[in-house]
Amino acid sequence: MQGPTIRNILTVDVEDWTQSVLDVNAPLTDCFIANTHKVLEHFVERAVCATFFVLGLAAEKAPRLVREICKAGHEVQSHGYGHRLIRTQTPREFAEDVTRSKKLLEDITGRRVTGYRAPAFSIGRTTLWALDILLDCGFEYDSSLCPVQTPRYGIEGIPRSMHLLHTPLGRQIIELPVATYRAMGQLAPAGGGGYARLWPYPILRGAVRQLNALGAPAVMYLHPYEYNPVELGSLPVRIPWRLRLHQSMGRRHVRGRVDRLIREFSWGPANHWTANSGPIPRFDCASLDPSPTRSAGVADGDTIGQRPTVLRFGA
Ligand SMILES: [Zn+2]
Repeated sequence: MQGPTIRNILTVDVEDWTQSVLDVNAPLTDCFIANTHKVLEHFVERAVCATFFVLGLAAEKAPRLVREICKAGHEVQSHGYGHRLIRTQTPREFAEDVTRSKKLLEDITGRRVTGYRAPAFSIGRTTLWALDILLDCGFEYDSSLCPVQTPRYGIEGIPRSMHLLHTPLGRQIIELPVATYRAMGQLAPAGGGGYARLWPYPILRGAVRQLNALGAPAVMYLHPYEYNPVELGSLPVRIPWRLRLHQSMGRRHVRGRVDRLIREFSWGPANHWTANSGPIPRFDCASLDPSPTRSAGVADGDTIGQRPTVLRFGA
């Protein structure tokens, strides 16, 4: 049963669809600014605060927007600088990317940046070294892991709920995995993105209830472009039809679903937990099974330009 005092974690990945999803080398459009304003207005309407993981490129283009997010009482954290998947970067490139984004956001907000979310949740079994680099760079928590192995991301075997993760070098970082839903012995992603667009709402609600029953917050995420159902039709770029179809499906429902979740549960930024929580479960990544076998399907169409286009949905 849901504990009435559990405050779940609402997060927003601030990025531009064209650059982050269609082509990582494309310039950012201005769309993300107006879209983020829509999210901010919604959160004011519902008097809810969240954690905004802001892409460095977006902060560079719209520093005023970052200040507005901060001024509205939200937590500003890092989504990296260039939205390049971790497996496409060397450790040195990754360190440069996250350091650049951290400094940029700290200069704009005047506040410490201690939390990180990887582009497309791309910290996997072969890139766990990224966690030690995050600690080296001054980060204290991460929200890049998904405890379901999908074709594009995820690490089967990690805990579903917030935990203290022992890194490959034996250090510790607070990990906030994105929400999942368990049914018939299977675990499926249910934290946001394509899953929030395409799963029936009771699965999203069920994910929050299940995690709260474990005494843990659910971590949900959204992107500002999901608040703009007509954006894809207005962009002056060629979008492959399968990507357009997949990215459009269910988009008009996202705001309503987020609104329903906000009304049904209690939400706040990640620092409510990372700064104030008591003892939390520990997990050593050295205990992971080295040969994952299962796949739970894909719903996000994120970062198409950096991987084969896989647009299946299912679990
Ligand atoms: Zn992203």
